[in-house]
Amino acid sequence: MKPFAAPVDDILFSLNEVANAASLPSWDGDLCAEILGHFSAFAESEIAPIDETGDAQGCRLESGCVYMPQGFVETFSALAADGWQGLTAPEAFGGMGQNKLIAAAVSEVFSGANHSMQMVCNLVPGAITTLLRYGNVSQQTQWIPRLAAGEALSTMCLTEPDAGSDLSRIRTKAVQGDDGWRISGEKIYISGGDQNMSKDVLHLVLARTGDAGIKGLSLFLCAKSEVHDAIRVTRIEKKLGLHASPTCQLVFDKAPAQLLGEEGAGLTAMFTLMNHARIDVALQGVAHAARAYDIASHYAAQRAQGRKRDGTEAMLSDHADVRRMLNEQRSLELGARAMAHITLVEIERNTQPALVNFLTPLCKVFCTEAGIRSADLGIQILGGYGYLNEYRVAQTWRDARITAIYEGANGIHELATATRGLKVQGGAGADDFEALVQRLATNNNTVMIELEAWREARQKILSMDAPSHRAHEFTQQTCELFFKSVWVRIASLRTDDDTQLLFQSVLKR
Ligand SMILES: Cc1cc2nc3c(=O)[nH]c(=O)nc-3n(C[C@H](O)[C@H](O)[C@H](O)COP(=O)(O)OP(=O)(O)OC[C@H]3O[C@@H](n4cnc5c(N)ncnc54)[C@H](O)[C@@H]3O)c2cc1C
Repeated sequence: MKPFAAPVDDILFSLNEVANAASLPSWDGDLCAEILGHFSAFAESEIAPIDETGDAQGCRLESGCVYMPQGFVETFSALAADGWQGLTAPEAFGGMGQNKLIAAAVSEVFSGANHSMQMVCNLVPGAITTLLRYGNVSQQTQWIPRLAAGEALSTMCLTEPDAGSDLSRIRTKAVQGDDGWRISGEKIYISGGDQNMSKDVLHLVLARTGDAGIKGLSLFLCAKSEVHDAIRVTRIEKKLGLHASPTCQLVFDKAPAQLLGEEGAGLTAMFTLMNHARIDVALQGVAHAARAYDIASHYAAQRAQGRKRDGTEAMLSDHADVRRMLNEQRSLELGARAMAHITLVEIERNTQPALVNFLTPLCKVFCTEAGIRSADLGIQILGGYGYLNEYRVAQTWRDARITAIYEGANGIHELATATRGLKVQGGAGADDFEALVQRLATNNNTVMIELEAWREARQKILSMDAPSHRAHEFTQQTCELFFKSVWVRIASLRTDDDTQLLFQSVLKR
C-alpha cells in the first residue's frame, strides 16, 4: 500500500506560479512553504495513518454520545495543541492570522490524508469568518478563541428530512421567550453533530423565525455545553464512505440559542459559511484526484504485465491505455487545483466579486467530479486490486463520491450558473470570466475556438425560456473552457516533455 505523500511541490507551484499569488500584496511564499511543510509532515506521520482504521471501524453512538474511531481523539489533541485549528483566526483571538490561500493549501493536504477527520475539523474556519462578520463582540470573544484552540468544533445545521436542496422548506423553529431564543425541530446529515474529540460543539443552526420561505430563516448559535439534554443525537448514518465522519441526526427540543446576525437574514449569514465550505469541498476533490493518481502511478510502475515491443517485460505504465488513464488523472489533478487556486487568489484580492461568484460553483462542480473520475480511473488502473480494499483507492472513490452531493448538489450549482450566474449585475461575472480565459489562454488557438463556441452558448442560454434544460451542458462547457485555459498557463510555465504531453491530451478532450 502506498503511504500518503502530501503533494507539497505541486501545491506551491500552483499557488505561486500558476495562480500568481505573489500578485497579492500580503503574499509571503516562503511562509506558505514553511507552514505547508510543517503541516504535511504532521499529516503524513499522524493523520494519514488513522485513515484506514477509521474507515474500517467507523464511529459509534452510545447512550447519546458519539465516539470517534481509534486514534482520532489523540491526533486531534496534537493537532489542536500545535494551533492548526486557529490557522485563520485573528491573532487577537489567539489564532495565527493566516490568509485563505495558506489555509487552502493546508486543507487540501488534510483532506488527502484523511477526508473524514478533515470534515469534522474544517468547518471551523468558516464558522470563525461567520462570527467575525455577523457576531457581536460578546459572541466573538466567547467563541473564536475556543474554536481556535480546538476546545470546540463547529457544525453547519441546515438539512432536514424535507429540506435538502430546497432550504425554504426548513421547519425547525426558533421562538423568542423571556429567557431568550429556543430552537425545536429535527436536523439530519449533520457532519460532526457530536464527537468526543473536542470538549464542546458549537452548532450554527438555520431555523425558522418567520413566515414560509427563505426570508423567514435566521441563523443561531447553539452550544452543546449550554443545552444539556435539549439537543439529542438520535442516530448516526451508515454510509458508502467517510466512515470516520459521524453524520448525525439531531433533535432540538427547546434548545437555548443565540441569534447570530439579523433576524430573517439567516441564509445570507449562512452563505458566508457555505461559500467557504464550497471551495473547501472543491479542494477535497483535488485531494482525491492527487491521492488516486499517487496510488495508481506507484502501482502501475511496479506491476509487470505483458511485454514491450522489443520483447522485454513491460510494467503496466508501459501500456498506452494505462498511460492514457494516468495522464487523465494527472491532468485533472493539476488543472483542478489551478482552477481552485485562481479562484482563491481572486477571493483574497477582493476586487472582482462578480468573477468570484461565477467561478466558485464551477470549481465546486469541476474539482469534485475530477476527484471522483480520478478515483474511478485509479480503480481501473489497479484492475482487480483496485476493487479490493488493500490498496485503498477504493476508499478514495467511496470517500470522494459525496463531494458532488453535499455543499449544494452539483446539479444545483449547474442550474445557478446557467441562470443567476449569467444574469446578476448584467452578466458581469460571465464577462469577467471571458476576460480571465483570454488572459490565461493567451491566444491559444484551440481555446479561442472554444471561447467563441462558449459565447454563442451563453447567448443561446440567455434567450431560452427554460435554461434549466441546458444547465448541465452549459456548465460542463464552461468548466472545460476554464480547465483548458488554466492548462495553457501550466504548460507555459512547465516546459518539460511530460507536461507538454499532458497539455496535448487536455487540448484533445
Ligand atoms: C455525508 C454527508 C454529510 C453531510 N453534511 C451536512 C452538514 O454538515 N450539514 C448539513 O446541513 N447538511 C449536510 N449534508 C446534507 C447535504 O448537504 C444534502 O444531502 C444535499 O444538500 C442534497 O440534499 P438532499 O440529499 O435532500 O437531496 P435533494 O435535494 O433531494 O436532491 C436530490 C437530487 O435532485 C437534484 N435536485 C434537487 N432539487 C432540484 C431542482 N430544483 N432542480 C434540479 N435538480 C434538483 C439534486 O441536484 C440532487 O441530484 C450531508 C450529507 C451527507 C450525505
